[in-house]
Amino acid sequence: MSVVFSKENLKLARKIQSLTGENVMLCYQCKKCTLGCPSAYTMKMKPHELMRAIQLGLEEEISWSGTLWICLSCETCNTRCPQDINILRVIDGFREMSKDMNYYNPQPFIPALHRIFMALVERFGKIYELGLALAINLRMLTPFKDIDMAYPMLSRGKLKLLPHKSRGAKELQQVMARIRKIEKG
Ligand code: SF4
Ligand code: SF4
Repeated sequence: MSVVFSKENLKLARKIQSLTGENVMLCYQCKKCTLGCPSAYTMKMKPHELMRAIQLGLEEEISWSGTLWICLSCETCNTRCPQDINILRVIDGFREMSKDMNYYNPQPFIPALHRIFMALVERFGKIYELGLALAINLRMLTPFKDIDMAYPMLSRGKLKLLPHKSRGAKELQQVMARIRKIEKG
């Protein structure tokens, strides 16, 4: 069965391309991404189906699928794609868009985690694990959830009590400020 792409449907693919640089219209549904994806078995819309859904302009179906938030960001799909599509970049593009689009999300704590993660990376130039765990647990109203793990990890030096700024933190903040300026137009 051949698939017809209307001009109207192409709008979503073009929007994603301008946001991420990735052209999902190159996808020819070989399914290699899905066959290597460690979370595909939990996804209602698997990576190759996500590509097709974008080609068909099915934005609402994509948001309802929850796939954007189940993806582990492992990048296996990227390495397997014969068309060199960076599928994770596409997914990240949707995650960013979701802030303005009010997408439905069956896993509402995951975008919160994403935002906290990005804010910490921007502040310190790298991730601050203890801060991340604390912020998430507070957000989920379970402040003491991982407390039994914290002490052994701190005592073995696997976790740092205080954050350390990486050398490139200032440059990263400048890059992020520039991105925000560009986004505001
Ligand atoms: S990055 Fe996401 S979609 Fe791609 S293989 Fe990993 S979990 Fe699957
Ligand atoms: S591996 Fe690439 S070309 Fe194949 S289905 Fe996935 S996105 Fe499409």
